[in-house]
Amino acid sequence: MTQLSFFRLVLLSLLAVSSVQLTPLWAQQADKISVLLIDGQNNHNWKATTPLIQQVLEGCGRFDVDVATAPGPEESMDSFSPEFSKYDLIVSNYNGQLWSKSTQKAFEAFVAGGGGFVSVHAADNSFPKWEAYNRMIGLGGWGGRSEKDGPYVRWKEEQKRFTRDLSPGRGGTHGKRVPFLVIVRDSEHPITAGLPSTFMQAADELYGKLRGPAENMHVLATGFSAPATGGTGEHEPLLMTVQFGEGRVFHTTLGHDDNAMKGMAFQITLQRGAEWAAKGFVKQPAVSGTKLTSDVPAMRDPADVGPDEFTAIPDVTSKGWSTLFNGKDLSGWSQKNGTATYRIENGTIVGKTAQGSPNSFMCTTRDYGNFELTFEVNDDVGLNSGVQIRSLSKDDFNNGRVHGPQVEIESAPGESGYIYSEGTGRGWITKQQPVKDAYQNGEWNRFVVRANGDRIQTWVNGVAIADIVDTESSKKGFIGLQVHGIKRDAGPFEVRWRDIRVRELK
Ligand code: ZN
Repeated sequence: MTQLSFFRLVLLSLLAVSSVQLTPLWAQQADKISVLLIDGQNNHNWKATTPLIQQVLEGCGRFDVDVATAPGPEESMDSFSPEFSKYDLIVSNYNGQLWSKSTQKAFEAFVAGGGGFVSVHAADNSFPKWEAYNRMIGLGGWGGRSEKDGPYVRWKEEQKRFTRDLSPGRGGTHGKRVPFLVIVRDSEHPITAGLPSTFMQAADELYGKLRGPAENMHVLATGFSAPATGGTGEHEPLLMTVQFGEGRVFHTTLGHDDNAMKGMAFQITLQRGAEWAAKGFVKQPAVSGTKLTSDVPAMRDPADVGPDEFTAIPDVTSKGWSTLFNGKDLSGWSQKNGTATYRIENGTIVGKTAQGSPNSFMCTTRDYGNFELTFEVNDDVGLNSGVQIRSLSKDDFNNGRVHGPQVEIESAPGESGYIYSEGTGRGWITKQQPVKDAYQNGEWNRFVVRANGDRIQTWVNGVAIADIVDTESSKKGFIGLQVHGIKRDAGPFEVRWRDIRVRELK
């Protein structure tokens, strides 16, 4: 070892230590969304719930939240003039006295000019006479609201559509606080895409008979307000978006109290709705039905909301894994592209380079979408290799060229565990590559991969390597073992895989 390479090794070790990821990359990389959370008056316990809303937003790593507390009911509102324009997003936990004319105008200008707004639960009770505010929230309740304020909007199961009902009647009601099913009515919208089609909210008030202009409003999810518990017998809107000028509004009727805010249905839809209102997209990862359950409500203390929930390494010793390689033959696999050879030896798949061959791939005959994958690999020093995930081979794309995300395998120091876009010309999907020495040359190396929604994470020998959001690649495709093409006069090289297992995620 030369002195130079010794220093390089020391430097790499230091980098490896300093780059231990406490917050996932997707949360670090993006500029945080700045939020102003407004409270100060509410017939609900805002002093208890504001910190919970703050925890739910900040805990996921994407938001920085300031709180603006308006004066109390007996005080003058004149002094309340938050600088809305300093923020990406305003979240209201406020239900009270009307703000000053100038503050109303500033708020309208903020949202109409492209700012984001989120109305939480009783914030839609507020300001019954402020016309622009009611257009922002789409629907509201109580405060003397009636047919003069607009229709009831309900999902009609028989007609499979929303109806607008202008019949006379008050606006706003709820039955007993019970757990209820949130039923997604648009699974294509960024807020609900990647969520289960139904999931239970913790015991909460299910708002019904809301009335309002309902202009430019889109209902994402409804809940059935059961007559048995004092409800309306209607499928009432729970989650809505509204376009107001250039601004995006997310309206959640969930979140009556601290118990309701422990519901992961409240938490996850708030996080996603807030990101969408601020940015117009949602980069938070998909959430499986095992996390957002539809039989009993999934509960979590808002203090425990963290980016960690998605970052823990999958346990390869736990249940639910299926073997992809039987140790005896290549049933369930087929070769694509190059002429490298694959043979079975002592329960391992051995890939061997072939002179003049392009990249070769031994591919599963089945496609996988959201999954966790693990394998062990031992690669000759000097041979580039990798494992394709969610990959495709199509006649109409470069004559069947295998393409898609590749989990890189190569000698250390190197890019093992980083994600490369094979066969597309896109290059590295992983832009930051701080850890380069998790791979052990000449040893069996344990790789773990999680691909869920747009998010792909990898670990090599227990070290977190990649954590990326990839919206461009296919979300489904085969898994493929690569033997890279080699230079003339190089090789032959071999790469060995064993214990290849997959655990599919919902
Ligand atoms: Zn309430």
